[in-house]
Amino acid sequence: MSLLDKAARGERLLADEIAALYELPLSDVASVAHSLRLTRANPEVVTYLIDRNINYTNICNVGCNFCAFYRTDRQKDAYTLDYGQISHKIRELEAVGGTRILMQGGVNPKLPLEYYTGLLRHIKTHHPGIRIEAFSPEEILGFEKFFALDASQVLDLLIEAGLDGLPGAGGEILEDEVRARAAPARISTSDWFRIIDIAQRKGLYTISTMVIGFGESYAQRAAHLVKLRDQQDKALASHGNGFAGFAMWSLQTAHTRLAGKAPGASAYEYLQQLAVARIALDNQPNIQASWPAQGFKVAQTALFYGASDLGSTMLEENVVSAAGGHGRHSATERELVRIAFDAGFTPAQRNSFFQVIRFPDVPTMLQPVRREEVPVV
Ligand code: SF4
Repeated sequence: MSLLDKAARGERLLADEIAALYELPLSDVASVAHSLRLTRANPEVVTYLIDRNINYTNICNVGCNFCAFYRTDRQKDAYTLDYGQISHKIRELEAVGGTRILMQGGVNPKLPLEYYTGLLRHIKTHHPGIRIEAFSPEEILGFEKFFALDASQVLDLLIEAGLDGLPGAGGEILEDEVRARAAPARISTSDWFRIIDIAQRKGLYTISTMVIGFGESYAQRAAHLVKLRDQQDKALASHGNGFAGFAMWSLQTAHTRLAGKAPGASAYEYLQQLAVARIALDNQPNIQASWPAQGFKVAQTALFYGASDLGSTMLEENVVSAAGGHGRHSATERELVRIAFDAGFTPAQRNSFFQVIRFPDVPTMLQPVRREEVPVV
């Protein structure tokens, strides 16, 4: 039986078999990935989330080589948002029917624990309908050091204040050789999984992630996927609260110390990686296409390479776009609906857990609009 036959039957691939997928014709790999997508996720529907990214501070002491977002506290454009500024952003999200904020920052050594717990309480009090998914494993690691608490204690305090989940940022390639080149002070592979595991055991939402384009080998990409798959197996077997989905994007290096040093990833490589991930991650049915890094057109194409979801509107994306991306900080619901509908799927708004909460009225939403309002899709 060929490798692709084995994959098409839904059989689990070993790490070296996953790495071998990159050497096969992409059209064949994509065909298998799409057929698996049609069985593992709703074949008719493409989902999206209406949410907002909020980057509460850009002050960070980690200094990743691939980051154009962070500042030191002495730089003129360093900032930390106050609760009123964050509330204002959430009100804008509420006005367009949004359901969650994805709130991350730099790892800011100047902020006290009370800033975070007070912020969570403020949001839950003033915006009770909004889920708060905030503070990546890198930030939780920083809190352990700043506040002399372990991750379990930190998360208990944050959950008690209103935290609903963690973003999966900081995963990139969970192989320490790659991480050491890209960002020597970045959270280690073992700490990333340690914090995710504690969060999952406490019932928090988490998502698995991947970033390609550091110059990592296919074997390292395969190893990354196997680690995510193993964590998912462990979580589902022991308590049932695994990763809600998988998001993958390509490295952007403009304005960073990796500019000209890391290759990034073309649309071809992005689509290839997405297809490989769909095949490898047999225990994660919800796989996102990324429009901020690759643009709307590649995101739409990705719906035939294993993706079943278009991510979210974001309203303001600051981190990927600071290092390049496709010049868009947000998507409208109309744009995401059009991408899904034109590709032959039924667009559906989802919640954080990829459950459909609303089918938009597509004919009304896609009615012709004045020329200056036509989105660039
Ligand atoms: S990627 Fe995150 S942790 Fe790294 S420098 Fe940027 S803000 Fe800091």
